Amino acid sequence: MPHVIEAAATGRAKCRGCGGKIAALELRFGERLPNPFADGETTHWFHLDCAAFKRPEPFLEALAEKKEPLEGSERLESEARRGVAHRRLPRIDGAERASSGRASCRSCREPIGKDVWRIRLVFHEDGRFVPSGCVHVRCSRAYFETADVLARLHRFAPDLRDEDLKEIRQELEGPASA
Ligand SMILES: [Zn+2]
Ligand SMILES: [Zn+2]
Repeated sequence: MPHVIEAAATGRAKCRGCGGKIAALELRFGERLPNPFADGETTHWFHLDCAAFKRPEPFLEALAEKKEPLEGSERLESEARRGVAHRRLPRIDGAERASSGRASCRSCREPIGKDVWRIRLVFHEDGRFVPSGCVHVRCSRAYFETADVLARLHRFAPDLRDEDLKEIRQELEGPASA
């Protein structure tokens, strides 16, 4: 079966991208994948924004098939296309202050100091998102080939406050990797 964009029949499904609930009647994206436990296929559901950010290729396929107009489709399509052009962007899984100084940055290989802003990464493997380390916020341009990542960081770290976002924006706009 092809990937699908449809209204959620109930509010029970959880989004694979952010872990949050998908409200009843909200439009959602369904990625069809081979069922690892049986014959046939299984469907992984996502909020549309989460799909555009984390599963750009199958999301664009479903978008191309959708006949009815979709609110916000231009923005969603352009974000998904950015994730295809910059192949590491879909790995973004939010931002946080480092809780210890033990992890190293996957971009510059330097340690990420305690309380320094870092971006969580996940790799998509066999239909699952696997935690895969972090990069400094200030290494965004070097690692993702773009510093235009704030919407993705906020999507997957919705608890970030305005002052957090301001600090992160300053690091994104600052001089490249120290
Ligand atoms: Zn989501
Ligand atoms: Zn770094």
